[in-house]
Amino acid sequence: MTHRIYLDHAATTPVDPQVLEAMLPYFTNSFGNPSSIHSYGRETRKAIEDSRAVIAKEIGASATNEIIFTGSGSESDNLAIRGIAYAYRQKGNHIITSSIEHHAVYDTCKALEKEGFKVTYLPVNEVGLISVDNVVNALTPETILVSIMHANNEVGTIQPIAEISKILQDRKIFFHTDAVQTVGTIPVNVQDLGVDLLSMAAHKFYGPKGVGALYVRKGIKLNQLIYGGAQERNRRAGTENIAGIVGMAKALELANANLEANSKRILELREYLIDNVLGKLDYVRLNGDRKQRLPGNANFSFEFIEGEALLLNLDLKGIAASSGSACTSGSLEPSHVLLSMGICHEIAHGSLRISIGKANTKQDIDYLLEVLPEIVNKLRAMSPLYNVSNERKECQTCTLKK
Ligand SMILES: *Cc1c(COP(=O)(O)O)cnc(C)c1O
Repeated sequence: MTHRIYLDHAATTPVDPQVLEAMLPYFTNSFGNPSSIHSYGRETRKAIEDSRAVIAKEIGASATNEIIFTGSGSESDNLAIRGIAYAYRQKGNHIITSSIEHHAVYDTCKALEKEGFKVTYLPVNEVGLISVDNVVNALTPETILVSIMHANNEVGTIQPIAEISKILQDRKIFFHTDAVQTVGTIPVNVQDLGVDLLSMAAHKFYGPKGVGALYVRKGIKLNQLIYGGAQERNRRAGTENIAGIVGMAKALELANANLEANSKRILELREYLIDNVLGKLDYVRLNGDRKQRLPGNANFSFEFIEGEALLLNLDLKGIAASSGSACTSGSLEPSHVLLSMGICHEIAHGSLRISIGKANTKQDIDYLLEVLPEIVNKLRAMSPLYNVSNERKECQTCTLKK
């Protein structure tokens, strides 16, 4: 393998060199415990509070203390949902979410159901969009929280968050959005979105792994997940990940400063990729909406092919991508997101997610376009279903046309 091409930025991104530089002093010289009162502690306390102010400003929060640092996007999601559910349990026990959430939200809701909460999982249409009317129709006097992701991590569909928040405004129902895929990628402003809680993770926007944040609008109570010290104003115990927090703030500042230029270039590459894949290959479809999607996301389904086989063959050619299916986790169930969009099992199994990042070039996409048809043809040649066309499983909704 001569060189490698990374096209899996929805999974994670590399740390930007400027971010690393900002972080380094906090591993060595500036190592004090921020809870200590001596100068070492005051120094790192200041670094954390400065970072909090940066993040608050970048997402349009009205006060610095509306930001809670966490250990990941997953922790932010867990804290938002569990934190609200238990703080407001006496007001009601009903939560509304969608059927295409990241597992950090979805599985938290599943766990809460076992603990006595009622959860509605809203359906999505064929491109993965939630209908605002469905949110309204699902509301009950018991509803305390609505949690709908800003953009989906598999198919990139961007949800009408601002529209949903408008209909929730006067009802005193909290609104959380998992914005892990959108912060640093498209404009995210908590006032424009009208949300009460918003999750983010540094490693999705060229910051370090193992650090996230949750925006919680002023005045909202939240039960804590982790007990111990009084860090994060009693909302998340544990000595802070100072270098991570500093890196997160630097990464978000950088990402937003270059957001327009980067997303324009990335979107052009994505359109070029989609046009060529749909133009050059048979029995392929684009999953998700063509326009209402994250700039770097392209998700395809190839009939007669297993997504895992596609990924392994791409990897042999030096290309890192992802499949929409959950086979990586050892389960043979295809992606809950694709199934919720009405895509049948066979076709959901043959999915491929390409997520483009700021360092990718047209040459990277051209290389993918060169090797992908060879791999697809090779795998199809081995598929009995492809060769005996009358044995094709008939699927009314999504059998792909040649
Ligand atoms: C990556 C991701 C998460 C989880 O973030 P971690 O920092 O990896 O825990 C949650 N939600 C969405 C939409 C994501 O893309």
